[in-house]
Amino acid sequence: MGRKFVVGGNWKMNGDKNQINEIINNLKKGPLDPNVEVVLGIPAIYLAYVKSIVPENIGVAAQNCWKVAKGAFTGEISPAMIKDVGADWVILGHSERRTIFGEKDDLIAEKVTHALESGLKVIACIGETLEEREGGKTEEVVFRQTKALVPAIGDKWANVVLAYEPVWAIGTGKTASPQQAQEVHASLRNWISSNVSPDIASTVRIQYGGSVTGANAKELAACPDIDGFLVGGASLKPEFVDIVNATK
Ligand code: PEP
Repeated sequence: MGRKFVVGGNWKMNGDKNQINEIINNLKKGPLDPNVEVVLGIPAIYLAYVKSIVPENIGVAAQNCWKVAKGAFTGEISPAMIKDVGADWVILGHSERRTIFGEKDDLIAEKVTHALESGLKVIACIGETLEEREGGKTEEVVFRQTKALVPAIGDKWANVVLAYEPVWAIGTGKTASPQQAQEVHASLRNWISSNVSPDIASTVRIQYGGSVTGANAKELAACPDIDGFLVGGASLKPEFVDIVNATK
């Protein structure tokens, strides 16, 4: 099927220039598996700085953007600005945007549409809360969140990576077991096959995110429907190199 493994680091609101220099120097030392695509999600204010020091083979992502190119939207940044400083990606729909900032499926869909139309690649995040999982609603929730993205993505699936991130596993140290993650990834791929197309289902990359570490990455990476990771806390640490190399 040839889905290239893709590992994203989501720095969230962390890092200063000293720490950024350390992280990038560590990634330069690597060595990083050349068969893996690496994308770093950077706080907006450091996008240009990171872009100026990061090796060409590492992608740079914003962690959010607004849904139009410019205008009276104090505090926001646009895909055009992200591209202007040389970054190629944006993370959209992260659970922290959904829960802390109240972003709903329809707003996320509008952002996805505009980001893709502007030529950015998108890491689109979905995932259920603990309450939803315990209520047996995992599939219902991830299918609903994905359904909202389908018209937003249109024919641009090649520029989208889906990140399945169970909210109960993000930043909690509670990783989904490989079986739990594989089960959701496989049913998501089936849903995409039935509701979008079998071709897209077989080519779209689905990352797992939620307390991935150097210690648990290999077992998760061995699952057939896990095509990469979106990594928060551990992306700030030297073990990020081991996570990138988890398929080796
Ligand atoms: C994330 O922020 O997307 C994430 C998965 O965080 P963590 O790896 O810290 O759980």
